[in-house]
Amino acid sequence: MNLLDPKSGARELLLGNEAIVRGALEAGVGFISCYPGTPSSEVPDTFFRLSDRGDYYFEYSINEKVAMEVAGGAALGGVPTLVTMKHVGVNVAADPLMTLAYIGTPGGLVILCADDPGCHSSQNEQDNRYYVRLAGLPCFEPATAQECKDMTREAFELSVRWQQPIMLRTTTRINHMRGPVTFGELPPAKISGEFVKNPQRFVSVPAVGRARHKALLTNLEKIRPEINSSPWNRVYGQGNDGVIVSGVSRAYLSDVLKLYPDLKVKVLELGLGYPFPQDLVADFVQSVDRVLVLEELEPILENEVRLVCQKRGLSTHVQGKDQDLPLFDEYSTSGVTAALHRFLGRDVPDQQICSIEQEKLPARPPNLCAGCSHRSVYVRVRKIFGDDAVYSSDIGCYTLGMLPPLKAADFLLCMGSSVSSGCGMSRAVKNPVVAFIGDSTFFHSGITGLANAVYNQHDLLLVILDNRTTAMTGHQPHPGVDQSLYNKKPGHLDIEPLVKACGVEQVKKVKALNQKALDQALNEMKDAPGVRVLIAEEPCPLYARRVLGQKRTQKAKVAVSDESSLECLHTLACPAFYLEGEEVRISPVHCAGCMVCVQLSSSIKPESRS
Ligand code: SF4
Ligand code: SF4
Repeated sequence: MNLLDPKSGARELLLGNEAIVRGALEAGVGFISCYPGTPSSEVPDTFFRLSDRGDYYFEYSINEKVAMEVAGGAALGGVPTLVTMKHVGVNVAADPLMTLAYIGTPGGLVILCADDPGCHSSQNEQDNRYYVRLAGLPCFEPATAQECKDMTREAFELSVRWQQPIMLRTTTRINHMRGPVTFGELPPAKISGEFVKNPQRFVSVPAVGRARHKALLTNLEKIRPEINSSPWNRVYGQGNDGVIVSGVSRAYLSDVLKLYPDLKVKVLELGLGYPFPQDLVADFVQSVDRVLVLEELEPILENEVRLVCQKRGLSTHVQGKDQDLPLFDEYSTSGVTAALHRFLGRDVPDQQICSIEQEKLPARPPNLCAGCSHRSVYVRVRKIFGDDAVYSSDIGCYTLGMLPPLKAADFLLCMGSSVSSGCGMSRAVKNPVVAFIGDSTFFHSGITGLANAVYNQHDLLLVILDNRTTAMTGHQPHPGVDQSLYNKKPGHLDIEPLVKACGVEQVKKVKALNQKALDQALNEMKDAPGVRVLIAEEPCPLYARRVLGQKRTQKAKVAVSDESSLECLHTLACPAFYLEGEEVRISPVHCAGCMVCVQLSSSIKPESRS
């Protein structure tokens, strides 16, 4: 699917994330920055893939804060700008975000924030509608692929007209759903603008900040009447019982009402829910006897509805979070079915859920891919440091080394935290502390932790697992990658001199698949005091194959299934290993040819790939 094809009126089946891209293109987006994070990653990846043909500027920024700052600069310069990240990324970007909401963004700034109810690929399921309220950001919440496109386009229009950054909040199901989308006109990208100097607005010294806070609040009140009458907020259905619903719950409710057409309810859908449309909600609440509020995660709408009722003296019964509608996890059609039936005083129907029962599914614990160099490093580190050490982990594929037998993650906070929280741990306990961080995460926010570690004379071994890419989110480039691979001007940053420039004196670089070299380096660094850094380098095998075009010419084979090969299976846990009865085998299809097992067991031999 080519999203740059300007076929107005064409209808295509798009991923929610692709529809967002098309919507931004239809708005004439000229500048896109991001930090990749599931479930938002396909949005920047699609812009990146199309960037040779599109006339917009695109960058993978080093982290979300930087992405927000470059986006803010472009939007102040008059260019329609999109910045994308996942929900936890907004924590990183929150500093510039708060001020951008104060000063406004004349060129138009849309912030795609992809929340992850259910923690499909995240460390928490924070509800970023709180950021919407904290920062003061008008917020769209699409529920279909078509809305993903249309709301993105309209968010740009309103951002320019209202002079405010706008949040486009999605959740995993919306980002990754597929649905039909009708294309609109595709104008040329607006890649340059004009900055009209106004230090009294744009230089946020305290006096300006105070004034701009009032300006923001005034602006939000001016916007509210428009939201009260916005076509994205619609009423349908009939009855004395009402439902107020937002986000993906709109899609679940729509399914339920189709499945059970005898359910009679009046529905208020909020697609543009902030500033909260108080008049619209008050009118709706007065038109029914009782209201059920459907929203994933926090009871934000529920509380706003209760507030409207309290302020206006309305006695309508408001029902929200309960046994069917918890404060955690995703909702589902079956959960909404149960909630709605109970709300209406009906028996909850037996539901035929179209999925295999969980217990019948084979267990699939999270595991590193066959041939992943992180496994090689973990085996050596665990051998040398054992259970006595505390392992500080970070965000990336290497977190998959958490489970036995590797057990290489004892705690994890957020992107870039392994260095700093490892330092804190090493002050608190007597055990040695080993921190792991990936190359992309090191650039994202590990460098600051390392500078702090040196400056404060902490005691830590930091292992930088440099696999030359951002593996977990789909092999996006970062400053340590050879940019010429992506037809960009070379802008390569080498990790080793960076580490040295931070003041680390004990730095070693080894090949991550070389067990002997790892042993030697780890033993040398094990008991040394202070901050030590081991850089373990080896491209992620998937990236090596897909992007670098490297092919492994060898695979491993169990020559003799004995104690040694069994021990290797149990300590390495490479997914290419399996047991056939008592015999240890290696799947030639799954073996990635890293040759680590060959170094660990004399019963395993290399052989050429046919
Ligand atoms: S994607 Fe690459 S880095 Fe991630 S687990 Fe697989 S091999 Fe390792
Ligand atoms: S060489 Fe050994 S460790 Fe590497 S992928 Fe193949 S079976 Fe797994």
